[in-house]
Amino acid sequence: MCISSSTTSSHLTDASTSACSRSLAMPPSHGDLQLDGEPPAGGQGGDVAPRRVWVPGPVIVGAGPSGLATAACLKARGVPSLVLERDACVASSWRHRTYERMRLHLPRCFCELPLVPFPPGTPPYPNRDQFIAYLDAYARAFAVEPLLGARVRAAAYDAAIGFWRVTVDLSSGEDAVTSTTEFVSRWLVVATGENAEPVWPEGVEGMDVYRGPVMHTSTYKRGDEFAGKKVLVVGCGNSGMEVSLDLCNNGAKASMVVRDKLHVLPRDILGISTFGLSVFLLKWLPIKWVDTLFLLFSRLILGDTAKYGLQRPKIGPLQLKKSTGKTPVLDIGALRKIRDGEIKVVPSINRFTEGGVEFADGCKEDFDAVILATGYKSNVPSWLKEDEFFSQSDGFPVKTFPHSWRGKNGLYATGFTRRGLMGSSYDASRIATDIANQWTEALARNIVAHNDA
Ligand SMILES: Cc1cc2nc3c(=O)[nH]c(=O)nc-3n(C[C@H](O)[C@H](O)[C@H](O)COP(=O)(O)OP(=O)(O)OC[C@H]3O[C@@H](n4cnc5c(N)ncnc54)[C@H](O)[C@@H]3O)c2cc1C
Repeated sequence: MCISSSTTSSHLTDASTSACSRSLAMPPSHGDLQLDGEPPAGGQGGDVAPRRVWVPGPVIVGAGPSGLATAACLKARGVPSLVLERDACVASSWRHRTYERMRLHLPRCFCELPLVPFPPGTPPYPNRDQFIAYLDAYARAFAVEPLLGARVRAAAYDAAIGFWRVTVDLSSGEDAVTSTTEFVSRWLVVATGENAEPVWPEGVEGMDVYRGPVMHTSTYKRGDEFAGKKVLVVGCGNSGMEVSLDLCNNGAKASMVVRDKLHVLPRDILGISTFGLSVFLLKWLPIKWVDTLFLLFSRLILGDTAKYGLQRPKIGPLQLKKSTGKTPVLDIGALRKIRDGEIKVVPSINRFTEGGVEFADGCKEDFDAVILATGYKSNVPSWLKEDEFFSQSDGFPVKTFPHSWRGKNGLYATGFTRRGLMGSSYDASRIATDIANQWTEALARNIVAHNDA
């Protein structure tokens, strides 16, 4: 187990340490905290009480870009934090749940985390390895060393003492849980991401009957493993489109299930990123006009997508994103393959058969493998015992951007804005400023109390 140097061991106080060292590390307001009290019910390991550790700074759950950015911004303001990460590395979503040829969807200037730009020479759309290297260097630059193999099982606010109790199952690597620790902190920052768990479709008949391999895009790595095979990709968002393209570029025959209407936009318009253009235009024009412009450009560049089985929703792409959070697909070449018949668009699935599927139109077709591009979901409701700030139904903050970063009682959320890494950066800066102000006040109170004593 490694303890973050952003929260060095001198900042963490074990329940067994003396009252003297505790009082040095803790703001005075938490004097009632019973570190030697009863362990929380259901502690791992039967009768053994979990170790209880006081964390003077915030506890941040998740060491993805959002968690790292928050820890870095706090560090820059002199506030230590403890980052807890269930996996054995930082940026695990990018390391373990993306395919090898993936690139950022948005230009790098919109994907930089606070305070550190991408290194010189980074291409406009960094690839997966470049982004991971950037995140590693970012963590190193701020000496953020998360506690790895630390899965938060539960977190609840203890109103009696005014602190968060965060129950963590600790393991090393892929090993089973080796111990449980309860971290106690004044602040809890949720940075577990919008994409914490893959979504598997429910209620599709016969999925257990199908004999071929079924995987989620989160475990898809490379197209050449499917060379010469017929692969059904279920879902047509950015992931479904990109995986279909990757399969196609590597000699597989991809069919893509398109069930809903969707907007496909070119990734770049006249050499400028569509996203960047939207940010610029929205400063001057109403969203409806920008949508009209984008649909016009899309028609000119991509043609009529409905002709290829991709019907557009009635409401424009940016308005749709604003009202539902549904992101338009930014095309990086899949549409041409669809147009050329190299990627086949197929209707929704009625049921699985032993060798493949029966589609909604009654046609049956065999496939060698099925890849589910059915998205991800937040896992917050599974561990955070709170139902005012976070919605129990989708695991996102109830309030939307720009008000989604702060809840009550020292609870914060970062990376739940549906605005990608720009949203994470915004949250990280706001959270760090807010906590740093409280931290400074607490320190000042501490000094006054010390001088009075
Ligand atoms: C395929 C794909 C491409 C994307 N491309 C872009 C892009 O180009 N530009 C952009 O701005 N955005 C992009 N995004 C959106 C978003 O920016 C990324 O998903 C980004 O990784 C979000 O960072 P995060 O830290 O919020 O979440 P994550 O990167 O998912 O990190 C969350 C971390 O929390 C950990 N965790 C979860 N539960 C627990 C628990 N109970 N206890 C301890 N740890 C836990 C996870 O292991 C993970 O390491 C993309 C998303 C996807 C899926």
